Amino acid sequence: MSVVEQLADAIREAGTGLILVVSGAGISTASGIPTFRGHDPGAIWKDSDMSKATFDYFRRDPVGQWSWYLDRFSRVDDAEPNAAHHAVVRLEEWQQSRAGEFLVVTQNIDNLHARAGSRELIEVHGTSARLRCARPGCALGAPRGSLPRESVDLQPFVESPSLETLPRCPECDEFLRAHVLFFDEYYQEHSDYRFAEVQSAAARAELMIFVGTSFAVGVTDLLVQTAGARGRPMFSIDPHAAPMPAWQPVIQLREPAEELLPETVAILERG
Ligand SMILES: [Zn+2]
Repeated sequence: MSVVEQLADAIREAGTGLILVVSGAGISTASGIPTFRGHDPGAIWKDSDMSKATFDYFRRDPVGQWSWYLDRFSRVDDAEPNAAHHAVVRLEEWQQSRAGEFLVVTQNIDNLHARAGSRELIEVHGTSARLRCARPGCALGAPRGSLPRESVDLQPFVESPSLETLPRCPECDEFLRAHVLFFDEYYQEHSDYRFAEVQSAAARAELMIFVGTSFAVGVTDLLVQTAGARGRPMFSIDPHAAPMPAWQPVIQLREPAEELLPETVAILERG
């Protein structure tokens, strides 16, 4: 049996139970967005850069961090969803057509699942599409507030990056920050990360499909352990995956998601 048929069979066998797709940076490389801890030379998430996606760095050098995020945001804004994102949307539609449950949990902040049309979607690390106030307790800050990035005029900062031009909260005048989970923060810090929903989804998923995730981020470990303990099938689609330890019952499919997923969905759609 080909890997495509193997995956299609597992999807059919999930019945109306929850199919949980968990995506990481690898799903967006075909859209031209450098990977998270990738091997490609353009990867911006090198160790030296990981210290920039921290609240500590924001506090020490907000101008430096804003400049860095604006560069990331512009790469994301220039990107388009690829065949893998579109296949995930078709899989959602297929599963819902048989009254089944479906959810995408993405670690990516690139907004590409949303732009492709995914509806049941949790952006567990936040999104480039929104910003928030850096002052917890502000209506536009943690634990529940945020505002659309497009509603904020970033042009003065882009033209002349400085503390004076740094974007400020329209409610309280504190600095704004990226609406993303920094490496030195917790999922529980903002309700938009919907972490309790992610945990409950993992606890009842019939099938889990990881796409382009390195398993180096906390949430994937949790999901693998939760589903693994319940004996539910797990697949990982990643052409560059390192072998996983034998005690982790994940079936690894080493093929590009932008090819494997559309082929799988085409088989399902043919019925
Ligand atoms: Zn504020």
